[in-house]
Amino acid sequence: MPLSQEKLTAGRCLCGKVQYQVTGDIGDAMRCYCRSCQCVTGSAFASVAAVESKRFQLVQGKDQLGCYESSPGKHRYFCSGCGSAVFVQTDKQPHLTRLRLGGLENPPGVVTRAHIFVDEKVDWYEIMDDLPQYSGWPTR
Ligand SMILES: [Zn+2]
Ligand SMILES: [Zn+2]
Repeated sequence: MPLSQEKLTAGRCLCGKVQYQVTGDIGDAMRCYCRSCQCVTGSAFASVAAVESKRFQLVQGKDQLGCYESSPGKHRYFCSGCGSAVFVQTDKQPHLTRLRLGGLENPPGVVTRAHIFVDEKVDWYEIMDDLPQYSGWPTR
């Protein structure tokens, strides 16, 4: 097993009933400005990163997790005790778990790479950096 795979990053919800960990690097992060993320976070954007689902492990609080299917096949998991948005999984890409980065204990090596869904960005938040901006998902 390569060294990087042994790295563990812990994460939790606000009340601490939901605890999870991620093995290995979190990798690149994106800021999502879509309307759904605004509502979920109560803020201008969500900081998210996708990791392979096999590297994401729920340590405790499985019975505490609520799930909201915001669009068909898109499951947004949250703590039903405190309301924290924790992660997202989709039927389309079950091998990926999209983490809400705020719950992670200051994950090392994460770099924000892009702004996505900027067409839905609110007027009261201004993007002040030169990172690429995409109207929806990043184009490759
Ligand atoms: Zn909680
Ligand atoms: Zn979003």
